[in-house]
Amino acid sequence: MRRTVYNEDHEAFRETIRAFIEAEVVPVYDEWFAAGQAPRDFYYKLAELGIFGIEVPEEYGGAGEESFKFEAVLYEETARAGISFGGSGVHVLLCLPYLKAYATEEQKKRWLPDFVSGKSMYAIAMTEPGTGSDLAGMKTTAKLSEDGTHYVLNGAKTFITGGVHADKVIVCARTDAPKPDDRRHGISLLVVDTKSEGYSVGRKLDKLGLKVSDTAELAFVDVKVPVEDLLGEENKGFSYLGQNLPQERLGIAVGAYAQAAAAVRFAQQYTQDRTVFGKTVASFQNTKFELAACKAEVDAAEAVCDRAIEALDAGELTPAEAASAKLFCTEVAHRVIDRCLQLHGGYGFMNEYPIARLYTDNRVNRIYGGTSEVMKSIIAKSMGL
Ligand SMILES: Cc1cc2nc3c(=O)[nH]c(=O)nc-3n(C[C@H](O)[C@H](O)[C@H](O)COP(=O)(O)OP(=O)(O)OC[C@H]3O[C@@H](n4cnc5c(N)ncnc54)[C@H](O)[C@@H]3O)c2cc1C
Repeated sequence: MRRTVYNEDHEAFRETIRAFIEAEVVPVYDEWFAAGQAPRDFYYKLAELGIFGIEVPEEYGGAGEESFKFEAVLYEETARAGISFGGSGVHVLLCLPYLKAYATEEQKKRWLPDFVSGKSMYAIAMTEPGTGSDLAGMKTTAKLSEDGTHYVLNGAKTFITGGVHADKVIVCARTDAPKPDDRRHGISLLVVDTKSEGYSVGRKLDKLGLKVSDTAELAFVDVKVPVEDLLGEENKGFSYLGQNLPQERLGIAVGAYAQAAAAVRFAQQYTQDRTVFGKTVASFQNTKFELAACKAEVDAAEAVCDRAIEALDAGELTPAEAASAKLFCTEVAHRVIDRCLQLHGGYGFMNEYPIARLYTDNRVNRIYGGTSEVMKSIIAKSMGL
């Protein structure tokens, strides 16, 4: 089916990104994979390309684009190539919407130019060792000092993408106790400078997939955060998280759909080249049926993504619809990539083949940004169940 979601500008951007990936990422990707992260300098190259500023208003150095579509093209192209841009994905997808929506004019002037230039890389820290899905259970605290000039931050976070390289982290912390009838009350968002005294980066975590993305533990011991760095209103952080998670979830859905599409392409190429029993693997009826079934699932996921992207741009994508898109696309990708890996035989298990990396990179899509079970809970609630 012809896609109508993108126009000529998006397709021109796609060509630029594709050429950039071929020239700047593919030749060095094995080194990044072995090192377990993309080099910090690479983020300056992304900044030079204008990636970080696409959706930043022009007065702060960005391109002022309101649409999510350029970002979606980016996810499609990185997935298509079987690569990732490291921990920098959260900089734009997760962190920028908070800065745009809740930062004051003074904060935007202070933060956004460095955000665009890559001088300040952002991460977001919600998850703690003791709580992930149940964010209202977080224990990290930020107590206002007696003179009211700063918060004193104490606690620990884990699984923080971009946590090693980050210059600023949007930390979710308790500034007040939960109310008996509202567990979500009392959470605030603070933009924490990672050079602050008492702030430390713990282990860079060794993961099953997403090898080039730095995922870290963070610890805070009496970190002083100026009150000027509170993002939005005190104690309202939970509702801010709820408002921004749909975009994050759609980004994951688009990335997963594109990984599945890439897997079908890789498997088709591979099975057409590989000969067994004197025939190409692609000539077996089983291979044709497998690839055809996978293609049908990818087409369905593409249609879901395209409708959701339009809905997000129109300001109409509900949390339940975003959860539905994430659940569907990530589950499709899981099935499709596994079947495509199977068609590669033993070579599919080798990291030098992109299908192996897609397999391990994709696995986390059903976990982060909210697990598939949490997505089902959100959808069920919207059905009145
Ligand atoms: C690679 C990676 C990168 C990440 N990056 C970030 C990041 O940048 N910032 C950040 O803050 N977090 C990040 N996370 C954390 C991620 O969002 C959490 O891992 C995720 O939300 C799940 O939380 P948890 O790991 O504590 O699992 P748990 O909440 O302990 O869940 C364990 C199991 O219980 C199930 N479960 C939980 N609640 C329910 C329920 N109500 N009904 C039924 N089943 C339920 C879950 O679905 C899961 O199967 C990242 C995680 C990973 C793996």
